[in-house]
Amino acid sequence: MIGILGGTFDPIHFGHLRTALEIAEGCGMEQVRFIPGSIPPHRPQPVASAQQRLDMVQLAIADETQFVADSRELDRAGESYTVTTLQSLRDDFGDEVPLAFIMGMDAFLSFRRWHRWQDIMQMAHLVVMHRPGYEPDVSEWHGSSHVQQHCELQQSPAGRIAFQSVTQLAISATFIREASRDGHNLRYLLPEPVRAYIAAHDLYTTR
Ligand code: ATP
Repeated sequence: MIGILGGTFDPIHFGHLRTALEIAEGCGMEQVRFIPGSIPPHRPQPVASAQQRLDMVQLAIADETQFVADSRELDRAGESYTVTTLQSLRDDFGDEVPLAFIMGMDAFLSFRRWHRWQDIMQMAHLVVMHRPGYEPDVSEWHGSSHVQQHCELQQSPAGRIAFQSVTQLAISATFIREASRDGHNLRYLLPEPVRAYIAAHDLYTTR
């Protein structure tokens, strides 16, 4: 099974990395692909450039062979919708391999407003990880045959939703950017090579 973690990664931090590792182990994933997203022009733009966000992902996962940096959303011109990304992964890996799109509870709470969410579920499983500050709310899914309590997704390529507990790390990229602007030390919130990259490129210093 291939896990997919999409995000802005502005910057990537231990809240992404530790949880992705626990999900990979808990759900039996051979690989997790980290896919930095391009942001549509009408939305607030990330502070770091697309290349810098990709560089930071690569630095963060360099030692972990299960983790792969995937630049397909940045390589494609225009808006990147999850459904298009999943189609491109299906083109590369075929229709049979189980794909699991990993997201935090914050992202899941608005999932039914995502572009073509039903098609997303036809192309991948969802693995939802609990995140501090976001109460699990599955009322919209109550009684849905798609939902399972344990992460057993190997039997089919797509279509199920699993909720997975992970070590709760109340780290966010927003917090890191603000801490940096306030002149605080970022050590131990994110991998050291990423911290050094931020310092070397003078990222997140101005408001
Ligand atoms: P920002 O603060 O800029 O919104 P973020 O820290 O939420 O950023 P993203 O790149 O937007 O990071 O997140 C990518 C994915 O990782 C999302 O599905 C999000 O829910 C999840 N995620 C991020 N941080 C955590 C965390 N600490 N615990 C669990 N899931 C997380």
